[in-house]
Amino acid sequence: MDCIFCKIANGEIPSNKVYEDDKILAFYDLNPQAKVHVLVIPKNHISCADEINEANCNDIAHIFVKIPGIARLAGIKNGYRVITNCGEDGCQSVKHLHYHVLGGEKLSEKMA
Ligand code: 5GP
Ligand code: ZN
Repeated sequence: MDCIFCKIANGEIPSNKVYEDDKILAFYDLNPQAKVHVLVIPKNHISCADEINEANCNDIAHIFVKIPGIARLAGIKNGYRVITNCGEDGCQSVKHLHYHVLGGEKLSEKMA
């Protein structure tokens, strides 16, 4: 499958890694929208939040267990925001589920 985040997950495309284990990868966004902007992805391809189900939800739970440590590793100290964009109206541009972890500064009170 021609998926850029699958290629990042399997090392075909390099990334600036923050954390990796057998299930997930966290790496810095190429185009940061906050002082610290990390993307967290499941290594197994899931296209978006709409595709989360009973069979793959352990990977998603694992992402959320690991996010506090990933934020710490990225130097985030004073809170952060976790976002996933889904589908057309959500302005999802990469069709491999990813969670944006934004922080390192005071974020906007607006989310949209
Ligand atoms: P979306 O708009 O789908 O929620 O977010 C996709 C994100 O992936 C964007 O913030 C974009 O900057 C980031 N991105 C796209 N291609 C690459 C890449 O090749 N490497 C990295 N590190 N980030 C990427
Ligand atoms: Zn993928």
